[in-house]
Amino acid sequence: MIFKSAKIEAFRTWGLLLTMMGMGLMVLGTAGIVFFGSAGKIAAGIGLIIGLIAMMGSLGIYFWAGMMSVSAVQIECPDCRKLTKMLGKTDRCMFCKTIMTFDPAKANITADQLDVQKSRS
Ligand SMILES: [Zn+2]
Repeated sequence: MIFKSAKIEAFRTWGLLLTMMGMGLMVLGTAGIVFFGSAGKIAAGIGLIIGLIAMMGSLGIYFWAGMMSVSAVQIECPDCRKLTKMLGKTDRCMFCKTIMTFDPAKANITADQLDVQKSRS
């Protein structure tokens, strides 16, 4: 799912995963104080710091994904006819996962050829 998805979706997935990890670490760190008393304080401190860094990182990824989705080009997918967003020259459709590209050298089929192929079948 992470590897076979549109770029924006992949960034959102990673952002969410990092937030969950950060929160989990911070909860574990706090739990360390409760269960192990003063001995757990060092572990708790490390957990809190790593958790905080992970959460900051995920915030950065979220912000970045938001910025990119603003600059992303909105196009109609030639395969499933739904409106999707493209990042960069090559990206996958958010709905049918078809790889689309603006680079004619990388494309093995054009939208027009796809139409012909579909009308024949
Ligand atoms: Zn599509």
